[in-house]
Amino acid sequence: MEPCIIVHGGAWDIPEDLWDSHLRGCSAAVEEGHSFLQRGASAVDAVEAAVKVMEEDPTFDAGLGSFLNADGEVEMDATIMDGDDLSFGAVAAVQHILHPISLARQVMERTQHCMLVGDGALRFARSIGVPTVPHESLLTQREFERWQEIKRRQSFEDREFFDPTRDRYSPRGTVGAVAIDSKGKIAAATSTGGTPNKMAGRVGDSSLVGCGNYADSKCAGVSATGWGEPLMKTVIARRVCHSLEDGMNVKQAGDEAIRYLEDRVKGYGGVIILDKDGNMSYSHNTPKMAIAGIGAGATIFKHI
Ligand code: ASP
Repeated sequence: MEPCIIVHGGAWDIPEDLWDSHLRGCSAAVEEGHSFLQRGASAVDAVEAAVKVMEEDPTFDAGLGSFLNADGEVEMDATIMDGDDLSFGAVAAVQHILHPISLARQVMERTQHCMLVGDGALRFARSIGVPTVPHESLLTQREFERWQEIKRRQSFEDREFFDPTRDRYSPRGTVGAVAIDSKGKIAAATSTGGTPNKMAGRVGDSSLVGCGNYADSKCAGVSATGWGEPLMKTVIARRVCHSLEDGMNVKQAGDEAIRYLEDRVKGYGGVIILDKDGNMSYSHNTPKMAIAGIGAGATIFKHI
């Protein structure tokens, strides 16, 4: 199997002056993940490596640069999934961690559980020596100012944030990666700071298996982004896999899922897909979605 990888850096109305930083961030991530695959590393290693690049990049709403919740704090969600045995690890509402995706992987590999949240996740991180960081080191001036602006307003709704027809706050995107390695293992990883001004303790789709992330080496890997609550209601990542199992191709399955998201629950977002034969695709109903991929023959593609 020829290794392939696709990553995304969020789906929203990305203004032109931010296209460059998004495409640069996605390209750096996909190249890092692909270099792992070329050295014979597994798809799990590749998606973790790719997501870590974007968690360190303040362009994106993950790790450094995450949105602040209603209390002015960073709380992050992440999942990683190994499509060979469907094992996954997830963390939710976790604080003080630069790389939630690596902590999620440790949950998968070193505990009997699939998901740890909040303080328990942080205690687990400390117990296994994962470095923790002060809150300020994940905070950017940009997000502090956004938070202050939201607080000055009378009301703020998530819908208004993702709805392309309404006034927006120049949001940032969640990040995700899907890879297939030379042995045909598919892995998917998704990491986010969530939505701006979310209630403390709110958990979105990104850490929930089948919603923001899914991988099955017999079918495909999927990472989703966008307004989390509708993505959760439609269990969108698993829906894409169901459609593939029913005989659709990657483009049809992605488009069907996004159509359903919009028609059934008026949601907004996007998905990246990589199937067991190395076919890649993406679908979104937001004006833009930042994506980069490296397919067969090391062909690179980018989309915004
Ligand atoms: N889906 C994420 C959430 O709702 C946000 C995003 O993808 O931009 O937490």
